[in-house]
Amino acid sequence: MTMIIQLPRDIAPALASEIEKESVFVSPFLAQLKVAPEMDSVAVELSDPTQEAAVREKLDRFLGLMLRELPNFETKTFFNTERRDSGPFETNVHRQMVERRWIHDYQRGRAALNGPALALLHYIDRTASSLYHETFKGTVERDFPALVDADLLWKCGYFDSHPNAVCFVGHVVEDFDTIESFRASNADSETVQLPPNEHVHLPGMCLNPAACFPSYPTMSGETIGSEGRIMTWKGRVFRFESRNVSGLDRLWEFNVRELVFAGSDDFTADCRRRTLPLIEELAGRLDLECVVETAADPFFATISAAKSFWQLAQEVKNEILLPLGPGADGSMKRMACGSINLHGNFFGDRFDFKTDGESASTACVGLGLERWVLAAFTQHGFDPARWPAGVRKEIFG
Ligand SMILES: [Zn+2]
Repeated sequence: MTMIIQLPRDIAPALASEIEKESVFVSPFLAQLKVAPEMDSVAVELSDPTQEAAVREKLDRFLGLMLRELPNFETKTFFNTERRDSGPFETNVHRQMVERRWIHDYQRGRAALNGPALALLHYIDRTASSLYHETFKGTVERDFPALVDADLLWKCGYFDSHPNAVCFVGHVVEDFDTIESFRASNADSETVQLPPNEHVHLPGMCLNPAACFPSYPTMSGETIGSEGRIMTWKGRVFRFESRNVSGLDRLWEFNVRELVFAGSDDFTADCRRRTLPLIEELAGRLDLECVVETAADPFFATISAAKSFWQLAQEVKNEILLPLGPGADGSMKRMACGSINLHGNFFGDRFDFKTDGESASTACVGLGLERWVLAAFTQHGFDPARWPAGVRKEIFG
């Protein structure tokens, strides 16, 4: 059944797509929400008509939050690189990569890259890493677990900002009969039999949702000198996206090349300033159109966030956007492929690491590698001749 809800005002296309995307977290009985082309109402499909009143009540609260007037701030653009390749933007890149067996799509937001797609992911990761090491002397290559304590995410404020994206890890309760019934049910079964909820225990472990989080406890109790601390690594990150998973642009599990700075305020601000030309250089080597501009996280971040946080956000988060070609309305579609974030002393305070007797500042730079791969194939297509020579031989052999 379909329910039409009139909006109190016309909304902008960006907010419309945000509302459609976040609507998957409103109710399990909400099958689909579409904003009308007139931008003045939403059409909602319910999977169970008996739930209409309950879903409507949640939707009213959800739409109320999404339609709040947030302080407008001017977007500041740090740089905007051009592409030398004059060919058109490729479409259906994900499907074409699956056909070429460069991606095995397991569905539900997991992909295995192969061939040139994997070679490109490695090239991007390696190039970013070497630019970081060359520019920031003393950078340490690290590695961190993907399985993290829920307590770590709590300390990092993740349950405040993205409670919908958390992935808990469960195991069968340590009980002989429970384990035996799980074993037996699968032994005689044609398909997998998951244990009932009451036989699963959540021991307070999560899959890591933001690459930098596990790095902070490793600095606990330390005093960081004036030379600062710089770490980089390739991290594996998990975010539950519900029905929004699609292709390489919205995965449940993906890879991030992360760079973390810790030290004084001046040190982290200076490092972040010096990172911008490195992202520009990376985009240049790949011959990609790329924009870095100020950004802010909507929805759950805004529920808990005070206005001051929102205003601060424009100063502290910069987004790396790679164009994907014109959308249905003619405007250029852009995909967020990474971000540059200043955290102030938030993590230094939470995890007790200091500089000059004060909680240290941190900043991080994360590049979503699968999204970079998707954007690069979208901008250059599948003809090796369109790729810059240096990249061509690395990925096509
Ligand atoms: Zn980070």
